[in-house]
Amino acid sequence: MILTFKPFQLEFKYPFGVSSNTRTHTPAVFTKLQHNGFVGYGEACLPKYLGETQGETILFLEKAKIILQNISYPTINILYEIDKISNGNNAAKASIDIALHDLIAKSQNKTVAQLLGFKNPSSQITSYTIGIDDEKQTAKKIEEAKQFSVLKIKAGTADDKKLITEIRKYSDKPIYIDVNQGWKDKFFVLDMLHWMKEQNVILVEQPMPITMLEEMAWVTAQSPLPTIADENIKRFTDIDKIAGCFSGINIKLMKCTGMQEAFKMITYAKQKGLKILLGCMAESSCAASAMVQFMDYGDYVDLDAPTLLKYDPFSGISYENGKVMVNNGYGTGAVPKSDFYI
Ligand code: MG
Repeated sequence: MILTFKPFQLEFKYPFGVSSNTRTHTPAVFTKLQHNGFVGYGEACLPKYLGETQGETILFLEKAKIILQNISYPTINILYEIDKISNGNNAAKASIDIALHDLIAKSQNKTVAQLLGFKNPSSQITSYTIGIDDEKQTAKKIEEAKQFSVLKIKAGTADDKKLITEIRKYSDKPIYIDVNQGWKDKFFVLDMLHWMKEQNVILVEQPMPITMLEEMAWVTAQSPLPTIADENIKRFTDIDKIAGCFSGINIKLMKCTGMQEAFKMITYAKQKGLKILLGCMAESSCAASAMVQFMDYGDYVDLDAPTLLKYDPFSGISYENGKVMVNNGYGTGAVPKSDFYI
């Protein structure tokens, strides 16, 4: 198998974050796997907080390339070898995992969903992230998000009640709140969750720092809203570590090393009675088309990333009436755009 790759900068339509720490681009590396005339595509999306750089990703892919070129027949089992290259590089691993699933499914005239043994996904409602600015900007962004029926808000600001109150002047849509570890006191958290439930908030993601698991268990036991682990969950083995501390987990391909592990996590989390949020980083339709294969297994879907990009180098999924629409093409269904050479 031949692995090639291309570093790229994904540009946002709107800068993210507060003025002192605005992000306009996210680095990425796109991968291409070829075998016997079939081609699979993958993506490593590398937002800064993930802690993986383009340079490290390229070094990892160079090592993977040597393993892959000595393999005469593509099989998912290769991923165990790829995983052993290093302890981290989860997004780099995901880029190979996605390309390999895409390639194998295409070679069998199947979607990846069919390859994994389940039916093609149906279209699902996704939340849509509103980056918070001043009130005027917030109003404008809510107007622009009018096709979406669920909003996602990054909280953990100096005054989150004020933030939600402002949004409620312009929209009564259900809201997913992502606190990004921003709340530190368990009594405050529980009070906030009760108040947020009154505001038609549907779930809260990672309210407390990753080290405060004991406090999270206390909060979750009494919480009127589902609590979803994000920073506390990367890979499969993290699920048992948060047992009893959250009501659900946010699974992202870039955190968990790809589709093979995501599938294992979904299956295990369901057995454990945990809710599943299917999430993403800032990836293009390449990686998002891989995640949508699992869409029918998510209790909540947060796959808006491609809509936040100024230029999406792949086509594969689209958005209509607030839903992620799947094309059910062979593989992941992602196809590079004609002006994107890889
Ligand atoms: Mg989050």
